Amino acid sequence: MSKVKHVYFFGAGKAEGSADMKRLLGGKGANLAEMTNIGIPVPPGFTITTDVCRYYYNNNKTYPPDLDEQIKEALAKVEEIMGMKFGDPKNPLLVSVRSGAAESMPGMMETILNVGLNDETVEGLAQKTQNPRFAYDSYRRLIQMYSDVALGINIDFFENALEEKKKEKGVKLDNELDADALKELVKTYKEIVRRERGMDFPSDPMEQLYIARDAVFNSRDAERAITYRRINKISDDEGSTAVNVQTMIFGNMGDDSGTGVAFTRDPNTGEKKFFADFLFNAQGEDVVAGVRTPLHVDELAKAMPDIYKELLEYADKLEKHYKDMQDIEFTIQQGRLWILQTRRGKRTAAAEVKIAVDMVKEKMIDKETAVSRVMPERIDQLLHPMVDPKAEAKVIGKGLPAGPGAAVGKAVFTAARAEELAKKGEKVVLVRTFTSPEDVGGMHVSQGILTSTGGMTSHAAIVGRDMGKCCVVGCGDIKVDEAEKQFIAGDIVVKEGDIISLDGNTGKVMLGEVKLIEPSMSGDFGTLMQWVDEIRKLGVRTNTDTPVGARRAREFGAEGIGLCRTEHMFFEADRITPMREMILADDEAGRRKALEKLLPMQRNDFIEIFEAMEGYPVIIRTLDPPLHEFLPHTPEEVDALAREINVHPANLQKKIDALHEANPMLGHRGCRLGITYPEITEMQARAIMEAAVEVTKRGKKVIPEIMIPLVGFVSELKAQKDLVDKVAKEVMEKAGVTIKYMVGTMIELPRAAITADEIAQQAEFFSFGTNDLTQTTLGVSRDDAQGTFLRFYADNGIIDFDPFMTIDEKGVGELIRIAVEKGRKTRPDLEVGICGEHGGDPNTVDFCHRVGLDYVSCSPFRVPIARLAAAHAELRSRGMNIKKDK
Ligand code: PEP
Ligand code: MG
Repeated sequence: MSKVKHVYFFGAGKAEGSADMKRLLGGKGANLAEMTNIGIPVPPGFTITTDVCRYYYNNNKTYPPDLDEQIKEALAKVEEIMGMKFGDPKNPLLVSVRSGAAESMPGMMETILNVGLNDETVEGLAQKTQNPRFAYDSYRRLIQMYSDVALGINIDFFENALEEKKKEKGVKLDNELDADALKELVKTYKEIVRRERGMDFPSDPMEQLYIARDAVFNSRDAERAITYRRINKISDDEGSTAVNVQTMIFGNMGDDSGTGVAFTRDPNTGEKKFFADFLFNAQGEDVVAGVRTPLHVDELAKAMPDIYKELLEYADKLEKHYKDMQDIEFTIQQGRLWILQTRRGKRTAAAEVKIAVDMVKEKMIDKETAVSRVMPERIDQLLHPMVDPKAEAKVIGKGLPAGPGAAVGKAVFTAARAEELAKKGEKVVLVRTFTSPEDVGGMHVSQGILTSTGGMTSHAAIVGRDMGKCCVVGCGDIKVDEAEKQFIAGDIVVKEGDIISLDGNTGKVMLGEVKLIEPSMSGDFGTLMQWVDEIRKLGVRTNTDTPVGARRAREFGAEGIGLCRTEHMFFEADRITPMREMILADDEAGRRKALEKLLPMQRNDFIEIFEAMEGYPVIIRTLDPPLHEFLPHTPEEVDALAREINVHPANLQKKIDALHEANPMLGHRGCRLGITYPEITEMQARAIMEAAVEVTKRGKKVIPEIMIPLVGFVSELKAQKDLVDKVAKEVMEKAGVTIKYMVGTMIELPRAAITADEIAQQAEFFSFGTNDLTQTTLGVSRDDAQGTFLRFYADNGIIDFDPFMTIDEKGVGELIRIAVEKGRKTRPDLEVGICGEHGGDPNTVDFCHRVGLDYVSCSPFRVPIARLAAAHAELRSRGMNIKKDK
């Protein structure tokens, strides 16, 4: 049996791994290997594979027997390259031990730095660097980080000891403590470890390394990592981490050292502008944690022009190599530049679009690649309101604009409080000095995030931006006091519950609620969507029953209306009374009288909608819901209606009771209404056709499609179609105008799907009502189930998606396949679409493409998302590997 390789070495221009080994080496490990191979100065090291992590969890937290041997071999190579030895008291090699899963999870898993320091090696480091202060500071940091991460000791013990030491020495800042003070502090820290864990801080470097490795693997199942995976729908397998062991490079070796994080383009706007956060004389995490607000990169350019030039060269090389915007960590150790890691830079959706479009213009990628890079759900961020630049606002501070859009909500100061209020449906803005991974849940439910410290690469900025949250960081104008639940901006005190607004594009913090404006489809977004339309095959229509919705959907690129639910029009103030009169009438004559009042109102609605959708098809559905939905429920409402229509309340109540059904969704609704009360369908057909005549006379093209709901038997459809045709003929003859229209049906009952060949004899088009089709196929109520057992099912792995959001391909999807095939057998030119909620879900759009539908229809705001999803579906069918939306 050949030996399984658990450890992959990289260093001195040669690596055993490469970029395409992300699953095995994790994102970070694969990139370290790749960067080494293309000649980037990466500190040498090795990666323990994610398979070892899987082995660890599958084998009761044990390791493959030959792992340690492979680690030692790789370590020896590193020692050789660096000319240093792990544990050598004179010339000690120190390493960092970092996590890195296939799916990036920023800040979620553990890192331990300075591994290899002990009482002897610390002296070696002190001598080598001529900087005992630095050596002992590194040592005390190791003990603290190690105790926190690997031993789970409360970090406050160490922080308190540090504070006490500062008091004792009469200094204010950490870096004012001298080497002797830090030496004493190391002693105290070790005592804390002994006291808290009854053991000595391990001095053997190999033992330190092994324990650090265990800590990284264990952190895969830390609560915050589990939460992050749940929110981002990352499986435990994808979240399995590699362990990267790498030579430590020190950014805190004096003023010729430093550390930073760079983006090859602006992660907020996407502008092609090198962008970095930098700190002199600082070590790695200081920048990312956002505890010290970093310097502008110009400071680096001024102080170290050669290094800056070199950094720009590597950034350019990395971006060209990966053909995507990179997020690069670098460290300068005594005037020498090292690149610690690079990865695809997280960015806002706006930046994503701009970068994709710019890279096509720069001939770095093609249009298809550009389209494939933007995930449909992400562009939702671009379709939402921004702060109106003309809005009057009381600006109380300005920070860095780190995340898109705008946020308005009540200020809250802890993640827990954010979650508590959000659960009650309140809009909140999370305000913190800085955020840490524990805050992720609270950030997720907030409208926006505001921090007083940190840069564009701080935790708040990276995580917030990726979530699509409006985010303002490093706002030094405010002083946050989490304990007092308030922040102070000049002489203004903002307390918990006070409304504030954030502008993620300018970084402004404003008191009160500011006016927002609607987004625009122009610029880079427009360009990208144009490419989307060139690629996709599937049409995209919208579900709307208002002229405003129709106009908005047109702006968003809808090619018609896939569903106009006429019943919504009856709920408006001027309509509800005649509607109720119609429902409560004793006979046909009474119903007709009430319908006469509704006719002109419906006709006007349709005229406006046809005008908004000029030249595009408009599917209007006849009345669908059970009639009692329109009736009053409380005794007060019944009394009021009785007075209004002049009947006795008791009689009215009796009628309402008579309309009660035990199971209304399976009751007297859909086409069953139009069949038992044909005058309803007659009125609606008349309103539609008269509106169509009117708009045609105004010189505009109208394409009406009349849709009959909840058909199970072809005879139901035939009865309704005959009626519609009769009315249409009358209206057209009277007006002397001929309009091409179609009559079709919803397919939303299993019987309709199965008998689609018969139904297509009458239907000129099908539209899948997947809300009802899911409800009736699964026998699960669409109105109740999500709040009760479906959630439980999802949490407990019984189902892995909500069948009312993403199509159940195996069940409901199979019925759709059958219906499409049978329907087209009868009528090859049958137009087929979908209008259930699923129509706006990217994964369902992919299914609709594969099954050969003509279009999907969804709410106006989801139209661009569906267009992009349709382009992705086409690109996938051409063989392109595009991740599915989660
Ligand atoms: C459906 O059932 O999927 C549908 C679109 O109709 P409604 O939601 O109005 O029942
Ligand atoms: Mg329905």
